[in-house]
Amino acid sequence: MTVAGFDIGGTKIAGVALAAPSAGADRHTLADVLVRSHRPHSIHGPESLVDAVAANVRELGEQLAADGHPPISAVGLALAAWMTRDRETVIWAAHLGVRNAPVKAMLEQRLGLPIVLDNDADGYLLGEDAMGAAADASTSILIALGTGVGGAYVADGRPLIGANGLGAELGHVTIDEEGPRCSCEAYGCLEAFAGGNALAREAAGVPAAVALARGAAGVAAAVALAKEAAAASAPAAPATDVAPRAEHLAAAARAGDAAAIGVMEGAGRAVAAGLRRLLPAFDPEVVVLGGTVMLSCADLLLPVIERELAEHAPLQGVPQPRRLVLAQLGGHAAAIGAAVLAAR
Ligand SMILES: [Zn+2]
Repeated sequence: MTVAGFDIGGTKIAGVALAAPSAGADRHTLADVLVRSHRPHSIHGPESLVDAVAANVRELGEQLAADGHPPISAVGLALAAWMTRDRETVIWAAHLGVRNAPVKAMLEQRLGLPIVLDNDADGYLLGEDAMGAAADASTSILIALGTGVGGAYVADGRPLIGANGLGAELGHVTIDEEGPRCSCEAYGCLEAFAGGNALAREAAGVPAAVALARGAAGVAAAVALAKEAAAASAPAAPATDVAPRAEHLAAAARAGDAAAIGVMEGAGRAVAAGLRRLLPAFDPEVVVLGGTVMLSCADLLLPVIERELAEHAPLQGVPQPRRLVLAQLGGHAAAIGAAVLAAR
């Protein structure tokens, strides 16, 4: 049985086709991934979502046929969306312009195939749980630093969904009630300190990151410029024209800029603060740290997270052979997770 999985993000669709586990194996491995795809999309609204999925399924099916593989018999979708507990209706997918739409039924009607839906963070951790960083663990949690902060908890291959479909939205655990406002409108969530948007907000106050975003000739020049400005007590130039992002901050931090290092340290401490609240709640074997910001800044963030957790770990009287690991499956993790879900 061949199944397909798609991860539909804000601007791109990642897809995979997965063969049945090879004879005798009780679970999928990376060797079962037959085809990968990665395409831009311009989805806006439920009808265009269905059109885009149908087109991607057709293309993947054609590639499979050309390579002599069996046709797709079920499709899994991972969506950046809040959805109902039964995973049939998308309540709100901001980037896709979809609100209160029975997406599962719409797709089943169009494609004539069984469809399973889940959110992108659940898909991501299901993929890592099936054949990535958490493959040897029965319980794992995910903290994914992307634009926001995604989270998931998987036990024995199943994601925690909760009473309202919001189970394990770990990026919205409060780490400081006095903190900045979050995208969810609460104050001081982990996401308000450590996501890509939070780092971009902080980067606007870091002169070296601002200079880099404006195209300063090299990191060293940007850091030197920032130092000169500080020595002359010149006010930092307002960052209104080109906004710096996490990558500019990271480059400045690697070049030794103290302000940039301070912001990255703060983000790492925020992740550790989140984990201190989450570890006693979930007691996972493995903590998977993923998302583009985490993976591209792991050299700066991971040592801080490890140090902070070592210094202030909860429940120290109980041995906890727990591992902090970086995600391994790259941009196709959630598509693989969705395909694994469809295979069931
Ligand atoms: Zn929040």
